[in-house]
This record gives sequence, structure tokens and C-alpha cells, in this order.
Amino acid sequence: MSPAVMPTYARYDVSLERGEGVYVYGTDGKQYLDFGAGIAVASLGHCHPILVSALKDQAEILWHASNLYNIPVQERLAERLVESSFADTVFFNNSGAEAVEMGFKIIRKYFSNSKCPERYRVISVEGAFHGRSLACIAATRQEKYTAGFGPLMDGFDQVAFGNLNELRAAITAETAGIVIEPIQGEGGIRPVDPNYLRELRQIANEFGILLMFDEVQSGVGRTGKLFAHEHAGVKPDILASAKGLGGGFPIGACLATKEAAAGMTAGSHGSTFGGNPLAMAVGNAVLDVVLADGFLTQVSDVASYFHNGLESLVAKHRHVLRQVRGQGLMIGLQCQRDHQNSNLVQAAMDEGLLSVPAGDNVQRLVPPLVITKKDVDEALLILDRAARRVK
Ligand SMILES: *Cc1c(COP(=O)(O)O)cnc(C)c1O
Repeated sequence: MSPAVMPTYARYDVSLERGEGVYVYGTDGKQYLDFGAGIAVASLGHCHPILVSALKDQAEILWHASNLYNIPVQERLAERLVESSFADTVFFNNSGAEAVEMGFKIIRKYFSNSKCPERYRVISVEGAFHGRSLACIAATRQEKYTAGFGPLMDGFDQVAFGNLNELRAAITAETAGIVIEPIQGEGGIRPVDPNYLRELRQIANEFGILLMFDEVQSGVGRTGKLFAHEHAGVKPDILASAKGLGGGFPIGACLATKEAAAGMTAGSHGSTFGGNPLAMAVGNAVLDVVLADGFLTQVSDVASYFHNGLESLVAKHRHVLRQVRGQGLMIGLQCQRDHQNSNLVQAAMDEGLLSVPAGDNVQRLVPPLVITKKDVDEALLILDRAARRVK
């Protein structure tokens, strides 16, 4: 008999029913320190009081309004994102894939609007993950996501990770844009060299093409900056945000400069639920916390404490652990070749810590941004026991 929930996920043998701060609880009452945060989503932990009251308050005011009307709470979130980023304008979506897909539409529209409709192709890099829609899997271009869903949508090319010569050589008269995650998430917490990002900006300028950052996972404070690309001092033309922006409420946002978005005029794009007042109220509350004085500094402090602890852990368990990488609280613990990341993730879970496997044999640690050094100490003890278990 087929399960009522379509079995597209290989699920862990645990049923989660409640969360509080950095902890989640199974139906069997077992407590887990949640360093997966629903894959970098519960950015302020579970049921953060500020988010709970924002959602409850909005629920008594207005749940839904069509984008046929002005929605003040949506304008407020857009204005705040614009004020604190490279962007001039924002469209709200419901998920990461939608935000990325909209970025691709903006790229195509930009060129058709400037009388160059023959330029429509987008270059992505190997190991990327851009979401599960047809356009997003065409950009992602990994067999595990595309198998059975062909033919792949036309208009996407892919080059090797970190290879500028190959990227330059791949640009043709049809190329319209480049899409990249400043730190690959699903691909295994692979940070892109800041110099490479700066060079990409140069190349995009030189060829007159658009640069788009997929910060669905790396954004909204995760790396100690509002967006990860700020570390490199490079600005994109378009940026996709989602995951942490809603702190657990479904949301996506596509940010752009006014030049890039010039063709996005009335009627060109739409969404029934995008910019929904409930999501907007929660997004504003997330920014209230993340943009408050000192918050991002605190994220960086606790992150460097965590990185140091993980370095010691790697030194202690050399036979299991290969290296720590990542930035801020977007961390990857790479296993040695003869150990499977999934075994480490399972062992940590058995010991009471949730984490997420990622590509390149990495255990991904993307905890709530509000963790303290005490939470880090607890996580390190659990990871130590987990590493001992898998040897
Ligand atoms: C998760 C993710 C997506 C897709 O987001 P969904 O909300 O699952 O559609 C896209 N890009 C990156 C970098 C992601 O991490």
C-alpha cells in the first residue's frame, strides 16, 4: 500500500511534534538539540517569542490580501530589505525555488527588454543546488535531482567549481547571466573563494551579463552578515532569499537592482500567496531580531567558538573526521573517505543532536543563530560521542 504522504523523502525514524528554542522533541518525548534547524530555516530557534507574537497578532488582523492591492506590511519588509542590502526592489515568493526561478525570469526579461532576446542562457557551477522546479533542476544539473524528469529545460550551462577560465570560455553571445551560491549548501558547505566572487563581478561587467547570488541558505545572518556575499565586498544584480528569512514560516524573496528589474512591469510576474501578510509579519519580526544592534556580531562570536571546538574535535578524531569548513553558522564537518556522513548524522541523532547530511561526505551544522556557547559545548560533547560511535 502506498503511504498517504508521497514517499519522496527517506525519512529518519523519529516523529517531531514540538520545538522550544534550540530543542525539538519527538512524539516519544526524546529531546534533540536542533543543529539542523529544519535545514537552516528555524533561524531564531523554535517558537521564538517575538515571532510567535508577530504571527498571533497578524492572525487577528489580516491573513491574506491579493497583490491586486497594496499591502503595508509587505511594503515594510521590502523597504527594510532594500535599506539593508544592494537591492532597490523586492518581490516576495513562497519558497527558495520560486525565488531562484524568478531570478531566472528577471535575467531573461532584462535582455528581451533591452532588445537582445537571443541572450537567455544562464551559467551555473558544478555542485550547485538551486531548488526542485524544472528550471531550478536544469540549473542544478545533478543526476540525483534530474533523473526521470527530462528533457532538461533549455537555457542552462554548467562549468567546474572555482574555475574562472572555464567559466569565461563558456560565455557566448547567448549568455545572459551567472548564478552561484556564495557558499554551496547542499553541495557540502563549499565556500567560494572571495577573489573568485570578485572576478565574477568583473566578468559579468565585462560581458554585460547579470550576476545572481542564490543565498536561499546562506542569507539572513547565517554567516554573520545579513548576506554571505557581503564578506567578499561584491554586489550581485539579483539575489534569491528564503529559508531563514521566515524563521520557519514559508517565505521567499527575490531582490534586484532597479536596472536588472527594469522589465518587471505590471503583469509580468505574479503570485497568489507571495507576500502574504502572515509571512510578511513574521519576516519583519525576523529582521527585528537579526538587524538589532550586536546580533550579527554575537553570531560571529559564537560561530568562531564553535569552529575552534570543531577543529579540536577533528584533531581528536582524525580517523573519522577530515576537516571543518564554512562560514559563521553555516558549517560542514567533512568525514574521511571510509566513513559515511550519513552514519555520523545518525550517530549524532542517536546521541540527541539533529544535523543534516550534505554533498561531498559532509555533516552539515546549521543551528539556530541564537545558540549560546553553552549550546555549542553541549553539541561538541554529543559530536564527540557520535564520532567515537562510528569508528
Ligand atoms: C533550499 C535551497 C533552495 C530551494 O529552496 P526551497 O524552499 O526548498 O524551494 C534553493 N537554493 C538553495 C541554495 C537552497 O539551499
